[in-house]
Amino acid sequence: MPEADFLPPEFRAPSRQDVAGFMMRWDQPLVVDGEVRECPACGAYRNWVVLCLRDDSVWLRCRAGHTAREPGLDAAWYNRHSGPADHWHPTLEDGLRHLGH
Ligand SMILES: [Zn+2]
Repeated sequence: MPEADFLPPEFRAPSRQDVAGFMMRWDQPLVVDGEVRECPACGAYRNWVVLCLRDDSVWLRCRAGHTAREPGLDAAWYNRHSGPADHWHPTLEDGLRHLGH
């Protein structure tokens, strides 16, 4: 049995208030209000990491590491499109590595 199963539940399932944010990969082009979103810095339009922060803002991070807020998206959108969180990361960098960025 994995060691994690012996940890108290609060160590395995932090509540929304306990984490800095959520992230998921979004490899296909992302369409917001009928327009494909592009990175303002390099023009990338796919292979995003989508970040959802505690203040309900949504940010797009391109493969090159540019990060920009996407005002057309919010936490409700994120929750509709993300699966249940299955990994918890101590830092943003750790999470990005996990996602292959
Ligand atoms: Zn970029």
